[in-house]
Amino acid sequence: MTEADLDLIATDRPIFDPMAFRLTEQEEELGARARCIGMSKFAQRASRFDAEASFPTENYRDMHEAGLLGICVPREDGGEGASFRAYMMTAAEIGRYCGATALTWNMHVCSCLWTGALTDDLDMPAIEREAHRRRRSMHYRRILEDGAIYSQPFSEGGAAAAGAAPFSTSATRVDGGFLISGKKIFASLSGHADYYGILCGEFRPGERPSRRDTLYIAVPARAEGVTVVGPWDPLGMRGTVSRTLIFEDVFVSEEEALMPRGVYYQAASRWPHMFMTLSPTYLGIAQAAYDFTVQYLRGEVPGLPPVKRRMYPTKQLGVAQMHLMLEQAKALWFQAITEAGPDPSREQIMRAWAAHYTVMENSNEICQLAIRTCGGQSMLKSLPLERFYRDSRCGSLMLPWTAEICLDRIGRESLYLPGETDD
Ligand SMILES: Cc1cc2nc3c(=O)[nH]c(=O)nc-3n(C[C@H](O)[C@H](O)[C@H](O)COP(=O)(O)OP(=O)(O)OC[C@H]3O[C@@H](n4cnc5c(N)ncnc54)[C@H](O)[C@@H]3O)c2cc1C
Repeated sequence: MTEADLDLIATDRPIFDPMAFRLTEQEEELGARARCIGMSKFAQRASRFDAEASFPTENYRDMHEAGLLGICVPREDGGEGASFRAYMMTAAEIGRYCGATALTWNMHVCSCLWTGALTDDLDMPAIEREAHRRRRSMHYRRILEDGAIYSQPFSEGGAAAAGAAPFSTSATRVDGGFLISGKKIFASLSGHADYYGILCGEFRPGERPSRRDTLYIAVPARAEGVTVVGPWDPLGMRGTVSRTLIFEDVFVSEEEALMPRGVYYQAASRWPHMFMTLSPTYLGIAQAAYDFTVQYLRGEVPGLPPVKRRMYPTKQLGVAQMHLMLEQAKALWFQAITEAGPDPSREQIMRAWAAHYTVMENSNEICQLAIRTCGGQSMLKSLPLERFYRDSRCGSLMLPWTAEICLDRIGRESLYLPGETDD
């Protein structure tokens, strides 16, 4: 997107003021690009994807054109080479305009971020790293040249997506690749992604499956044996189209591996902030709910009579509560994403859980307050608040860091030192 494009529309103010938060030039530019495309295109389409529970295909075409599909593809491979923090703030800006687009875009971007900058921080024998770099370049080329979309169906309905058990979707080595069998639930982008980046266990006869052997493999959506089943009619995040995927003896070439065996396990253990990437969508929704409320109480929502409601002390109190919760979430989240990296301290991991929890819970609470503060008309389907409210409800349900799991871990880590028991 050129500077002239950016000048064409007036953009909302950044969620994170570049001067105040001392953002890099790249972070500022990516944020501006996201706001521009979000305001001019995504905002007006969002209610249709929500009503139809249909996938935002047009938005993906626009993001490809704007270079955003390759945001975390390393520069040497032709992408934007955005850091973890730069991506997180850009994703929050997209979330302001269409939650379903931001959340599904996250699944796509992680296929690049985790295989790119994050994996570069991890240990790998030189020969394995060389093969990994060759393979990931193939995935990146598909994204940059063809606009290919990747998803991340990990959930199976058991304990695996929470990191508490090995995945039951199995990969068995055969000549030239793997045979994949299993089922993934809540598979966002099902029927719309070109590649499903699944986590599965390497099945070896006579051996017990182990989380250490987890494989991360891109299954071409059109491969024989892949089917999308079941309905999709949820409360919120309806445009994510998170149906069920079935894999029946699907042959996948070994070149489709997104990470070598064992590297996903290493990433999850050593780079835990990787799981925070589900949160920016919900920070963006919180900002959108706050912005709408201010506009509504000032009588400035386009298409509505210019009735002001800002003079009532109860309205001012409601907005003040929302403002506090938004600032709390922003400050904690910004600190956590700034210190993300390999081998964080115990305190840093606890801060990441606290930030993730705060964003997910505050987002829904801010939307709830927005509806109460704006009043009856604000829950009409013709206005976006009720969609923000429904979408924001989904954040704290998402594994592996649901609100309950974050609380559980923070509580335990606060009270027990590593290795300590009550025996
Ligand atoms: C809109 C949307 C889109 C999604 N998209 C994707 C996607 O693209 N890919 C994907 O892989 N998944 C996706 N998910 C699924 C999501 O990450 C979770 O897997 C899913 O919400 C879990 O639902 P469940 O009822 O099976 O959870 P369960 O595993 O049955 O857990 C129920 C609750 O129990 C608690 N719990 C579970 N395990 C533990 C534990 N070990 N310790 C303490 N408490 C625990 C948690 O609070 C959890 O919320 C999506 C979910 C939503 C809502």
